[in-house]
This record gives sequence, structure tokens and C-alpha cells, in this order.
Amino acid sequence: MLSVSHVTKKYGKVVACDDLSFTLDPGSVTVLLGPNGAGKSTIMKSVIGFLRYEGEITVGGYPNKTTDARRLLGYIPEMPSLYPNLTVSEHMEFIARAYKLTDYKERKEELFRRFELTDKQKKFGDELSKGMQQKLNICLGLLPEPQVVLLDEPMIGLDPHAIKELKLILEEMRAQGRTMLVSTHIIDSVDMLWDRTIIMDHGSIRANVTRDELDSAGKTLEELFFEVTEGTGDNREAQEK
Ligand code: ADP
Repeated sequence: MLSVSHVTKKYGKVVACDDLSFTLDPGSVTVLLGPNGAGKSTIMKSVIGFLRYEGEITVGGYPNKTTDARRLLGYIPEMPSLYPNLTVSEHMEFIARAYKLTDYKERKEELFRRFELTDKQKKFGDELSKGMQQKLNICLGLLPEPQVVLLDEPMIGLDPHAIKELKLILEEMRAQGRTMLVSTHIIDSVDMLWDRTIIMDHGSIRANVTRDELDSAGKTLEELFFEVTEGTGDNREAQEK
């Protein structure tokens, strides 16, 4: 459903993503793990078509920057960028128009209910707390019901209720055959959720395993994470000298 092939992204001399390749299957949740600065946001922004990069990315077989691919793609960015002078409800209307959605009212209400925003609908973007902004950010990303959803550090700033709802929604979307890529640097926040984990560090993929593969190896996600990431910083510094 999503194919990333030999993608390299440099910011000047910084190689944020170094020859990354992976594919994601329909009906799966993949967790993209890695320390700060590993390149997680950069690969997500590349997939969504915000950045220029070397290599190829396709969504449902379509090159990611085409209209056909964009129709399939949803993105929940790490930093919500809300309009200060639109209300919570108007933000959803804006997305509905941008995606030419019809019959979205029920879904909008359901998302507001699940993320406890129903009584905040008339509040303006700049009146919302950080957590409420993040909840609206998630609702905006989910309203168009994308087939492939990228969530960049979605749990940050959420209260326990919203985290529980988001996890439930991810499970529902998986059952509907949709494809999700969830980036995080907090291993515990996703432990029960994932089918595949990709661990990145210093712009490279250090591990790409399914849950079954990890179970057969008799390791926890945390053990694998430290095994593949620890010490790499020193190595990298040595290589760069
Ligand atoms: P992560 O999401 O895993 O924390 P990022 O993709 O944000 O990592 O960053 C990967 C690397 O690219 C880091 O070294 C970061 O400093 C660098 N980087 C990210 N965005 C920019 C930018 N706009 N300009 C220059 N360097 C950047």
C-alpha cells in the first residue's frame, strides 16, 4: 500500500534520511521508532509530499505527489497548525471542503465526541489548550477517512482518555484494511498496538521486524531498540571524523 524505495533526504550537509526502503501492507499498524533526530519526521514529510528527496515513494501504486496518491493519504503532523480565527467546527468544515467530502457530519460529531471536543466547537484555534489543539489536529487528519495515515508523535500532549480513543481508532482502522505509520520516540506508548516496527537512528533503518519475528527472537521491543541504537552515535561520530 505504501512503498518507500531508496529515499535519501539531505538538509545541506545533514543526511536526515539515508537510502531508506520499506513497504507497508494494508490493514497494518507500523511503528516508526527512533531517538530524537533519527529522521522520522523527515521520512513522513517526504511520504506526504512536503519535501524534495531522492528516490521513489508510491501510495497504492501511484507516485506520492499525484492526485490519486494524495486522495489515499492522510497526515497528522507533530505540531498542529491551526487557524487562530477559525473555530473548532470551522476547521472541520475547511477540511471537508478541501477534500470535497459529503456526508461527513455524523463522522465529525463522532470524532468530536470521542475526543471530547463537542462542547468546544465554538472555540477559536488560539483559545485551545495544547492538548485540545492536538485532539483537533487528529480529528482533522481522520475526517477524510484516508486509506494510509501517517501520525507523527500523535500521543504527545494527549490526556489518557484521548490516548485510549486514538488506540481504539487505530485498531478499528486496521480492521477496515487501512494502513498506518505511527512515529514515536516513546516505546511504551505503542507497545500493544503494532504489527511491524521500523527502528531508525541517524537517518538509517536499524531494524524492520514484524511482531511475530520479534516474538520468535524472544526479545521485547525495548531490548531490540537499545540493541540496534545504542553505541551508534559514537560510531557515527567516528565515521565522520
Ligand atoms: P525525528 O523526527 O526522528 O526527531 P527529524 O526528521 O526531525 O528527526 O530530523 C532528522 C535530522 O534532520 C536531524 O539531524 C535534524 O536536525 C535535521 N533536520 C530536520 N529538519 C531540518 C530542517 N528543516 N533543516 C535542517 N535540518 C533539519
